[in-house]
Formats: sequence, C-alpha cells, structure tokens
Amino acid sequence: MRAILASPKSLSFLYFIQNLSLNYDYIIVGAGLFGATFARLASDAGKKCLVIDKRNHIAGNAFTQNMQGIVVHQYGAHIFHTNHKPIWDFVNRFAKFNDYRHLVKVSYQNQLYSFPINQITFRQLFGFSDAKTIEKYLVKNTERPIDDSLESFAKSQVGEKLFEIFIKGYTEKQWGRSCAELPSSILKRIPVRSNSDEYYFDDDFQGIPIGGYTKMVEKMLDGIDVQLNTDFFSIKNWCETNAHKIVYTGPIDAFFDNQFGELEYRSLRFEIQILQQKQFQEVAVINYSDAQIPFTRIIEHKHFEKSNADRTVVTKEFPQKWDIGKEPFYPINDKENNTRYAKYKTLAEKKSKYVFGGRLAEYRYYDMHQVIASAMKKFEKSKK
Ligand code: FAD
Repeated sequence: MRAILASPKSLSFLYFIQNLSLNYDYIIVGAGLFGATFARLASDAGKKCLVIDKRNHIAGNAFTQNMQGIVVHQYGAHIFHTNHKPIWDFVNRFAKFNDYRHLVKVSYQNQLYSFPINQITFRQLFGFSDAKTIEKYLVKNTERPIDDSLESFAKSQVGEKLFEIFIKGYTEKQWGRSCAELPSSILKRIPVRSNSDEYYFDDDFQGIPIGGYTKMVEKMLDGIDVQLNTDFFSIKNWCETNAHKIVYTGPIDAFFDNQFGELEYRSLRFEIQILQQKQFQEVAVINYSDAQIPFTRIIEHKHFEKSNADRTVVTKEFPQKWDIGKEPFYPINDKENNTRYAKYKTLAEKKSKYVFGGRLAEYRYYDMHQVIASAMKKFEKSKK
C-alpha cells in the first residue's frame, strides 16, 4: 500500500490532484474487502490501480484497530468463515489465520442460553435433551405458517416459546419493526441442532486473521496506490479522465443522485469501553433478546485472539434508524427498496466505464467470503 499524497482534505489537495494527470487502468472507490480484492487481482495481472476511500482507514467495515494490546473490531464482530477453498487460499496469502471458532450465547431475563438452539438449550429450558423428545416437542408446538411474516414462519419452525426467547426481541430491536410485519425472508431458516454442537458456524474453514483485518488488507494493497479521506464525488471528473475503468463500491443511490429516492438501511451505534478487568463474559458475543434492553449484543474482543491482556475491551451494539450522516449497515431488502434498487441497477448496467460491486453498490448483505467471491467474479468479467 502506498499513500500517494498527504493532507488530502485540504483544498490544495483537490486542486493538485485535479491538475495531475495519472493514467490508471482502474480507480477503485472503496478500500473495503471488495475494493481490496479487486485491486489485488488487477495489480497481480499487471494493471495500475489507485484505491480511494472517504474514510481515514482501509478495510471498510472489517476495520480492526489495536486498543490496549487487543485487536478491536470497530464495526462489530467479524468472523471469517467459508466452505470455498479458493477463497480461503486467497485470504491466507495475506494473513495467518488463528483457529478461532465462534461461540454466541443468548441472554434472556438474566439467564444465559446456548445458541444456536441445540440439545444443551433444550436441557437448560425444559430439562430434556434427547433427539426424540426434542422432535416431539417441535411437532407438538409448531403449526403451518399462516402468512409470510417472520413471526408466523419462526413459530412454525420452533414454536411460541423459543420464538419469544431467541428471536422476537432481538429481531424487533435489530430491524425496528414488529416480527409480524417483517418478511420471513430475513430469517431464511432457524437451525435446531439435534446434537450439542454450540459452534455458531459449521463451515470447513474458519478463523480470524492474526493481528486483525486491517493488517490483512494492508498486505492485499501492497504496492498499490491508496488515497484515504477522499470522497469520490469530489474528484469524479478527474477519476473519469485518469482511469480506463472505475470500480465503485459506494452506495448506488448516491451515485445516481438519489434520483429514484434513497435506498433504506438499518444503522448501528457502537459503544466501545475499556474495562479494567481480565474478562467480562465467557464468550465473544452475547445476544440480548429482551425487548427493554436497548442494545442487541455485547462483544468482548479478546476472545477472538485468546488474548491474555490484563484489561478487556467490549462493544455494545445499538441498532438505530438510518439517515444521512449515519453509517448504512443492513440493507432493508423489502419489496419497495428492491424495486428502487432494480431501477438503479438498470442505470448502472449502461455505464460501461464502471464496475459496481460490494454491499453498498449491490444493495445486499454480503458476508466477507461472499464479497471476495463477488469481486473475483467481477474482475474476471471486467477483463472481457
Ligand atoms: P465496505 O466494507 O463497506 O467498504 C466500502 C468502502 O467504500 C467503505 O470503506 C466506504 O468508506 C467506501 N466508500 C463509500 N462511498 C465512498 C465514496 N463516495 N468515496 C470514497 N469511498 C467511499 N461478514 C462476515 O463474513 N463475518 C462476520 O462475522 C460479519 N460480521 C458483520 C457484522 C456487522 C455489524 C456488519 C455490518 C457486517 C458484518 N459482516 C460480516 C459483513 C462484512 O462487513 C461485509 O461483507 C464487508 O465489509 C463488505 O465489504 P465491501 O467492500 O462491500 O463494503
């Protein structure tokens, strides 16, 4: 990674850069995982790239920072998991991964429960844990869904009680809407395990890059020009003259001046605290599903690297309504927003100089392995 210019926020920077003629094969807007993957592949193929980001750091939402000797995931817990060997091999080029396996517990009415729902959860709640009795419980307590709502779907999978404890409060805080109004598509499926496996993910490859994601992305951007604190829209014309192609990973509606209206998101507020104690909680993430508790989860970062530090750092995650000025985190992929997005996508397809990719330009939730796979695909396509 090479920072190309200093004091980018100053007017003289804008004046300077707009008068500078540099020929790039690709200018990549966004130093998140989509942008960094695309830039790496293009650079490996001998292409000259410039990556810009309006934030003051690389790695996008996977950004990590060292606090008190602990690697802190600044935009919420990020666990890498994939079943796809080529993606695993790709990220392992830039970092050594530890063997962290993700554990989550659910707190409800001051009790901690094992999650995803498994034999241990049933034992904690009802005193039984054998697969047959669990199956009988589910048959007795579930009915066919009566409509397409998340509530109806969830109850049809796990019954009223488990829905109340594990899904209702958490989901309603997360989305700011009642489960009766939310579409079932948000949940996809609710795994009920017939064993006592408490690990959150079951992918073949899992872990956290040792030293954090920022270090990993720094390596991905090795030898590539990077300019931070730079909003694409302030140098759009310059980019168009100085690049053969532009890869845009920002919000697609902003690119088209919100002409069909804004796409809606759910946002989050993170409250990070350093605590003068060795450990705060037994696992990395505890979900709080009581409706009256305003946050959805607490993350204790030292678990990700099994750190032995004397202090600890925790993050409380508060869901909030998104509006301009707040970070857009989760796209609200309801009918109205998807229809609006489809209109923007049609416009984007006509922009032959551009590649639109990543979670904001494609208006969809991507896990990290998925966004890397998407960048790989789009890079291959852009070569044709
Ligand atoms: P981003 O990381 O958002 O990068 C886009 C970049 O573009 C940003 O840095 C932004 O500043 C920049 N940009 C936007 N507009 C402009 C502009 N006009 N000019 C210049 N720059 C601009 N995935 C997992 O696999 N495992 C997890 O455990 C996990 N946990 C998550 C937890 C939370 C709370 C969230 C929100 C997401 C989580 N994810 C997780 C998903 C992961 O964060 C995404 O897959 C990934 O960050 C998407 O990368 P991206 O490059 O598309 O977007």
